[in-house]
Parts: sequence; structure tokens; C-alpha cells
Amino acid sequence: MFSLVFISSNLDFMYVLKFGGTSVGSSESLKLVHKILERHSEEGHLQAVVVSALGGVTNQLVQIAELAEQGDSEYEAILREVEDRHLQLCNELLPVMERSGTITAIKLLINDLEDICRGVFLIHELSPRSSDHILSFGERLSSTIIRDFMASKGIDIRLLDPRAVIKTDAGFGNAVVDHNLTTTNIKEAFSSPAKVTLVPGFMASSNEGNFTTTLGRGGSDYTASLLAAALDAEKLQIWTDVSGMMTANPRMVSLAHPIKHLSYEEAMELSHFGAKVIYPPTIQPVLDKSIPVEVKNTFAPDDHGTLITKDGDPNGRWIKGLSSIDDVALCTLSGPGMVAVPNFSYRLFASLSRESVNVIMITQASSEHTITVGVSKEDAEIARLSIEAEFEREIQLRRVNPLTVETDLSIIALVGTRMREQVGVSASLFETLGHNGINVKAIAQGSTELNISVVIDRKHLRKSLNSLHESFFLSDFRKFYVFMIGVGNVGRAFLDQIKSQNEFLSDAFNVQVNVCGLSNSRKMLFSEIPIDLETWETQLEEKGKPMSQDGFVDEMIAMNMRNSIFIDCTASEDIPLAYERILKSSISVVTPNKVACSSNFDSYLGLKKTATEFQSKFLFETNVGAGLPVISTLSDLLKSGDRITKIQAVLSGTLNFLFNTYDGSQKFSDVVKQAKAEGYTEPDPRLDLSGVDVMRKILILARESGYKLELSDITNRPFVPEECMNTDSIEDFYSKLDENDHVFQKMVEDAKSEGRRIKYVASFENRQATTGLETFGPDHPFFELDGKDNIVLFYTKRYSEQPLVIKGAGAGAAVTASGIFADVMRITSA
Ligand code: ADP
Ligand code: ASP
Ligand code: MG
Repeated sequence: MFSLVFISSNLDFMYVLKFGGTSVGSSESLKLVHKILERHSEEGHLQAVVVSALGGVTNQLVQIAELAEQGDSEYEAILREVEDRHLQLCNELLPVMERSGTITAIKLLINDLEDICRGVFLIHELSPRSSDHILSFGERLSSTIIRDFMASKGIDIRLLDPRAVIKTDAGFGNAVVDHNLTTTNIKEAFSSPAKVTLVPGFMASSNEGNFTTTLGRGGSDYTASLLAAALDAEKLQIWTDVSGMMTANPRMVSLAHPIKHLSYEEAMELSHFGAKVIYPPTIQPVLDKSIPVEVKNTFAPDDHGTLITKDGDPNGRWIKGLSSIDDVALCTLSGPGMVAVPNFSYRLFASLSRESVNVIMITQASSEHTITVGVSKEDAEIARLSIEAEFEREIQLRRVNPLTVETDLSIIALVGTRMREQVGVSASLFETLGHNGINVKAIAQGSTELNISVVIDRKHLRKSLNSLHESFFLSDFRKFYVFMIGVGNVGRAFLDQIKSQNEFLSDAFNVQVNVCGLSNSRKMLFSEIPIDLETWETQLEEKGKPMSQDGFVDEMIAMNMRNSIFIDCTASEDIPLAYERILKSSISVVTPNKVACSSNFDSYLGLKKTATEFQSKFLFETNVGAGLPVISTLSDLLKSGDRITKIQAVLSGTLNFLFNTYDGSQKFSDVVKQAKAEGYTEPDPRLDLSGVDVMRKILILARESGYKLELSDITNRPFVPEECMNTDSIEDFYSKLDENDHVFQKMVEDAKSEGRRIKYVASFENRQATTGLETFGPDHPFFELDGKDNIVLFYTKRYSEQPLVIKGAGAGAAVTASGIFADVMRITSA
């Protein structure tokens, strides 16, 4: 790639500008570059302009060289692409009459390149020296066109070949600069500068033999910085495709934003840990001269960008940014005899340095029995061989264990000068990662306390960056990701509520709830980009894949989104079997499904423990009383030190509706049918009429009150004659009800004659739970219970005379959905 460094008017007002690959990648962007240079000229600045190769060209050159080395003639096709792209740019940028000279120059360069590649192809050998020679063509080609284009626009411009001034050793691919000589050469080359001196970036030449070398990938930034330092420039501007150094890599974290002001150390640390926007060696030369650096966006030149200075922003945020290195390995040396090994650390680092292995981080356990270094994946094997060779004798004597190498890891660094003033940064870092089920493998704090770096599993990198970014930079705004199985009446109502509430949630609570997974019994749909709640139904139908319960859970876990919430809106007996695995993946579970909490006690308790251990939440408020705050109230009472002595409740909206509606004048079966038609019963109304549903609810309340109880411990007094319940079909059930209508008629009439009403009641007292019909007179709170309402009376140590009463709509899709919503809100505010 070609970088453009621009130096401005007299030496006292020299500006160095560097334009990266994307800034010089097309005719449109080069027109923007021209505007920027023009503006500087108008302000009277002398400019040294460093340019990269056109975006993507250096990568193509690497590919060409490798293919040629392998004897694969495919390299020629790529070479043609490179040629065509440059010729096309000439055609787009230069007036017809002025084009031919440039086109000839490009063709000559391409011919040269072709000859070298042909040589590599024929002898199947690519030395580092030839490789650097090939790579330098990217900048040579781009600078040729840019020089001619700027000249055609009337700019006083000259081209300076950096190989004449920037001198290095023979470390091809990543050559080390001879600073003194380079500085003298640059000063001399600029002793009588043009208004604009154009310098292709990235390449240099060796002191010995004058061979073309390169400064490492991304090295045009460094070229610019060397020029700025040698020329004592007013400012170094790095022009790129983003509006500054950002709080995190914008390709990984969509909410990353530019940082206004950084110190040199902070910028260096961020780039060292992977912020590609600045090539790490770039900062040192300008730091030595205290030259301010600006990172600016060619495509939005008026944006503030990032200003990098000696002091940075002394009053700024204490954490400036996050950066990461994707693929690293941890090499750990340990052993009982390590403390006794003389010069142990020195020998370790010397052995790595001999092989030019770059140590990214170091951690040492306080016991000094272990030392761990983080290196890039490519260096891992070399590191292992050289360390094991160095400690061969100690390993043989078993004072030191053979090196352990762990791979597929990433490093994340949190950077900020003021971090040293702040206690608790690592605590909140651990907490955020822990909440999201991410294990920290190693942690290191730089001695300057400018950064804290952690090592995590590579597969968690995106999730970790986003969660840390959210908690450190957007602590006021959090996103949650919902995965829901079951889009029947309740699920549907819940989706409607999210749709209508999201704006309010983000305004009032800075919370956003996104739906990223949905399924009905046939299909399931996943998307990292939140599913549009206007069209979820069509999307599920058209884009959904066949539903499988395990498949749903697997995919949700694999998506590994932070702040995930699983909602089971089914009555399935099987789905709850997956809760354990889900909670262990640090995904919270919210469900109106009663199966998990009312099956055996140990598995209920197991789920609660798993949730605590993995910092996920297991919430099931809607298991009892739909949206009524029954379970949360109970839990608040207990948390505040109260104790439940007795519970008395009407917990079946269905049964309450039946006994409120049936007065003996119609058939009982007709009232049941009406309840079913209005959606108040289970698909099979026998489940409601048997009392099992209520038994499950009182069981859950008893357990939540702290008592160990099983369903079989509950005494149920059935009120529907057995012959009705033991029917083969719902139809048979209705006809048996009709045959027994007199039973129900008598019940109501008896009650009516005493001025009482029938309720199906669940009670818990003295460790005993019972369910069954009871009658109540007007002095009891149950007497006036309307429609399908529920009521719960909690008698406690504090509420011993007058119970705490919770009463209201206890069935129906909308209220149940709002109970689920309340559970989700509990998670978001945890
Ligand atoms: P150029 O071609 O201008 O040298 P680079 O591709 O080398 O540009 O660097 C710019 C890119 O760096 C951005 O497009 C962005 O994707 C990436 N990047 C990674 N981390 C950061 C960060 N913390 N801030 C800004 N950009 C970053
Ligand atoms: N063209 C070189 C590269 O792609 C140098 C640079 O763009 O900074 O690595
Ligand atoms: Mg770059």
C-alpha cells in the first residue's frame, strides 16, 4: 500500500501527512486527498506527504510472490489485476493529454515487477530480499500516479524515493532503521523543499548493499513519523478511513467511538495491543521530539479525530480504550526447583530474544514457581524449542517441568494513564467477564499501570470486547439478547410488548432488549442483528430452519452473545431438561413453564445453585399468578429477614372463572367449554379440573419459602368425580360431566343457601400443603374474588394478624407476558 506524507512550507512550518491504503485506494478518495493538500497549501504549510500502496495491493503482492515461489502461474492473473487497477486509476484521474507519461511509467514498473516474479517462478525461490523488493512496488506504483495527479491539479510537488534517505539493517521484512544516518539524510533532502514532497511509505534501503528493505506491514505510518521527527515538523497527521483512534476496534465493537485526546504512551500501548490504525513503532520518533500527532478521517476531514500529545488529557477518562490481539499462545514454565535456578528470568528472556520472539505479556505467580509469557501464535513453536533448549538440563533433573503451551487464546488490553489512580479496575473487569461466562486465563498489569491485559479463550474475543466496552465506555447503556422458544399466545404478546416498550426502555433505563432467536414447534430463526419485530412471523416462516430443541440451545450457546436471556414459553416437559446447560453457559432463563420448579426438589434446587454459581439468573415469576408479583414479593420478604408461616391462595384463574360463572342454571360442561374457548384453560381442561396445576403452584410457593417438598407430599381433594377424569378423550370427558351435572349443581346450591361462595383453594401451613374446594362467606377476602382473578395471602412473622395480600388478574396472555417482561427487566437491572 501506498502512504502519502506531506511536508509543508518552510522548514519551520513543516507538516507531515500520511495517507493510508483506503485514502489513496480510488479516484474518489484521491480527490479528497487533493482537497486536504490544497487546504494545507492555502494555509502556507510545507508538506511532506507519505502515501501507502492502493488499499489491498500489498496483500496482492504478497500473494503474487508466494504463488510464484510455488511455481503456480496463477500469480500472473493477479499481477494483471494490479496492473489494470493502476491503469484504470490513471484514466480516471488524469486528463487525456497528460496521461501517457504516467501510463508509461506504470507499465515500466509493472514490467520490472513481472521480470522479478518470473525469476522467482522459475527458480521456485523467494528470499526475504526479493520479497521486500516485490512488496515495495505497491508504494512505487501508487506514488507515481499520485504525484502526476497532484501536479495536474497545479500543486508544486516532487517525488522523493525514501530508499535514498531511510537507511536500515538487512532485516528484510521488518528492517531496523539507522536513526542517525536517516535523520541526516532526510534533513539534507529537505534543505530546499518543494511545497509538497511526496514520499512513498513502507520501503527503505539497507546500509550494506543498498538493497530495498521494508519497515514491516503497516510501516508507512513509521515512514511518516521518521520524516516528522527528522524535520521537527509542526504536526504529524495520519489520514485514514476512521475518525481517529477509537475506544475499540470498530470492526469488532459496533458502538466504538473515537477518542479525542491520548498521550503518546496510551497511543503506543493501544497500538502495541492490536489497534491497527497506528503501526506501533510510529510513536517513538515523534515522542522523542514531542511532535503532536493527529489521526484524521480522509472521508470526514472536519471530524475532530484523535490528538496525541505528551500529556494526553490529564482530566480525561481513566480508561481510554480497549485493544486486542486475536491469536496468541501462553507458554508457562514451572517447577519446584525454579526458585533455585540462578538467573532464571534472564535466561528465559534471553532465549526468546535470541530467536527474535516478541513477548506480548508476562505474568508471574507470586510464588515465583511459575512464569508465563504470551507470544503470537506464529512464535509459539520457536518459543517452545528455544526455552526447552535453554533449560534442557534443569528439565532433565526435574527441577523445571517441560514447557506447557496453550493456544487459541486472545489478549485484551485495557489502556489508560489514569488507571493507576483508580482502584477496582481489575475487579470490574473480572465481574463483567464473569457475568458473561468468560474465564480469565491470565492477567498482567504493565509496570507503568498504563494497561491491564487479560488472556481469554479466542472464541470469546468478540463477546468479551463488547461486554467490556459496554461496561467501561457505555456503562449507562446496555443491550440484552433474547432467545425465545414458543410463540403461542403468551410468546406473541411478549414480542408485542418488547416492540412497543423498547424506545421507552432505552430512554428511561438505557436498556435495549433485542430478540436474536425465535422458534415455534416447526421452525427456528437466529440472527445476530436483532430480528425485526414487525415482521418476525414471516421471517420465521421464510428464513427459519427446522426446529429441534437441542439445535436451538446449541445454536444459542454457540452464538455466544453477551447478556443473553433464554425464554421458554412452552409447556414442554423436555425443554426444562436443557436449563442446566443453558445456565452453565451464563445465559439467564426466564420461564412461565412450571415443569422445572415443580419436578423433583433436587433438580429445582440444582438449577438455582447453577444459576448462582454461573452468575446467570433463573426467574419464573409467571409460574404463579401470571403477571402478579407473587414470587418476587416472597423473595423480598425472605431477603429482608421475614419468615413465612402460612400461605392461603386461590391460584387457578380457570377454576375461579368456572365457579364465578357457574350458578347451576346452565350445564357445568358448557361453562368449561366457554372457559376453554376464551383461552383460560389448558388445551386439555382436565389438567385444570384435576387440581394438578394448582398443586404445582403451591409446591413452588412452599419451596420458594424455603421448605423441601415434593408434589407427592401435597394432599389434594378432587372435586370432579373420578369417572369424568378417567376418560379417553375430551369429548368423553364432557359427556361424563353432563351425566354428573347434579354433583356440581348440588355444590353451588348448598353454598348459595348458606350465603357462601365456592373457591378452589391452595394452602400451606405447618409444612403441609393441601388443595381443594372450600366455601367462604362475605367476611373473607376470597368471597369477592371476581372473574379469573388470583389472590395470595402471605402470613409471616411480620404479617401475623393481617396477611399480606396480592390480588389481581391471574391468567391470560397479556398479563403473563408482562410478568415475563418484569423478569427480563429484573435481569437488566441486576
Ligand atoms: P490505513 O490503510 O489508513 O493505514 P489501516 O487499515 O492500517 O488504515 O488502519 C485503519 C483501520 O484500523 C480502521 O479501518 C479500523 O478498522 C482498524 N482499527 C483497529 N482498531 C482500531 C482502533 N482502536 N481505532 C481505530 N481503528 C481501529
Ligand atoms: N502498504 C504497506 C502495507 O500494506 C504499508 C502500509 O500500508 O502502511 O502493509
Ligand atoms: Mg495502516
